[in-house]
Amino acid sequence: MIDLRSDTVTKPTESMRAAMARAEVGDDVYGEDPTVLDLEEHVAGLLGHEAALFMPTGSMANVLAVRALVEPGQEVLCEASAHIARAELGAHAAISGLTMRTWIHPRGQLDLGAVASLVAPDMGPFFVRTAAVSVENTHNFAGGTVLPMSDLRDLRELADGAGIAVHMDGARLWNAHVATGTPLAEYGAVADTMAVCLSKGLGAPVGSLMVGSADAMVEARVRRKRMGGGMRQVGILAAAGRHALDHHLDRLADDHEHARLLAEACGVDPAGVDTNIVVVPHDDAPDFVARAADAGVRVATVGPRTVRLVTHLGVTRADAEKAAAVLAGL
Ligand SMILES: *Cc1c(COP(=O)(O)O)cnc(C)c1O
Repeated sequence: MIDLRSDTVTKPTESMRAAMARAEVGDDVYGEDPTVLDLEEHVAGLLGHEAALFMPTGSMANVLAVRALVEPGQEVLCEASAHIARAELGAHAAISGLTMRTWIHPRGQLDLGAVASLVAPDMGPFFVRTAAVSVENTHNFAGGTVLPMSDLRDLRELADGAGIAVHMDGARLWNAHVATGTPLAEYGAVADTMAVCLSKGLGAPVGSLMVGSADAMVEARVRRKRMGGGMRQVGILAAAGRHALDHHLDRLADDHEHARLLAEACGVDPAGVDTNIVVVPHDDAPDFVARAADAGVRVATVGPRTVRLVTHLGVTRADAEKAAAVLAGL
């Protein structure tokens, strides 16, 4: 079976497992796990921020990062199909007590005109206060699309002018960085807080980080513990994440090439495939998924008429070519 359902299906490599086995550990709730501290410092540095906090999931990183910027009763603005709005099961409302308003963009991009008209930092005692805008880079449900740096800079300017903050859901920021060559810190410079995943295409089994100021991290550490996310000798997992960053970052370019190859086979213009996700419109997506599975390729639906293919560490060039041939023949 070639598994293209998601880039979360990767399994740790032998050398990653060796790095995990060797990891020096301590009790991270006491702040004593050297491997976690090293990973946090490393990732904060890569993104040009003061501090980072290791989290079990990207969802928790997003919830706590957005909460660092938005108080209960305030709102965050985001694109309508953003992961924070669609795929975190209402956590931002249920846990943080905040609301969202959205703009719609078919490719998950910023619409600065829409953002400008939605922003309401202080319209008196009758309207919800906008405290932040969240952007997703790359955008998952839009098909791994990259947000252009120029739009992000304009957003930063708009946010500064309005006195509001910017969060970047960078679960796959690594893919944006490799696809465009934009330095990670350049992305970091436009955001107050960020969330990044090590467990997607990078291939770590578990792990994400919230990134931002040292002050934000003090409060986030308390909230993480409150949510049951205080982990103990978790350096074993941080070691996998560090190994992934050191050894699997550059190879994301291969995933992007494989995705374009799959797009072509499915009749999708490869020019619209920015990174490792291919969205294929289909009249009967569940039927396509079933027939692909019978032919040895697992793909997923993200709607009744939408099939999604995702490339990752576990898909070799030969796998991608074989899957392309299978899907083209369906
Ligand atoms: C995967 C993902 C997350 C985090 O998901 P978890 O499964 O909670 O780790 C956040 N944002 C985006 C865009 C994602 O694709």
